Amino acid sequence: MLPKWYEIPLGGALTEPGSTRKNRTGEWRTFRPVIDQDKCIRCRICWAYCPEGAVKEIDREHMTAKGVKYPITYEIDYYYCKGCGICAEECPVKAITLVREYEK
Ligand code: SF4
Ligand code: SF4
Repeated sequence: MLPKWYEIPLGGALTEPGSTRKNRTGEWRTFRPVIDQDKCIRCRICWAYCPEGAVKEIDREHMTAKGVKYPITYEIDYYYCKGCGICAEECPVKAITLVREYEK
């Protein structure tokens, strides 16, 4: 038996706050940005430019091979990164490389 009109779930509507976090939008990504932590100068530009808020600033020290010590680390949240490449384009030292998610 078909449901009554008022029993049909709402479409295209947010029914609870924060529910979009359950949609892991990174699943349709073709290219994955990878940060070279030794090249990164912690300028925060990728964090500021990412349209998805998928660049995370983490309180974790990193010592580069050349002995430069940084108090923070930037990482990509692959659950939400869509692979648009803006971060790689804007990084002033080209510390972000886009690599293909799946080989054919
Ligand atoms: S590729 Fe796009 S979505 Fe992913 S971290 Fe970079 S700017 Fe954000
Ligand atoms: S834009 Fe490049 S150098 Fe700046 S924090 Fe991001 S990865 Fe590091």
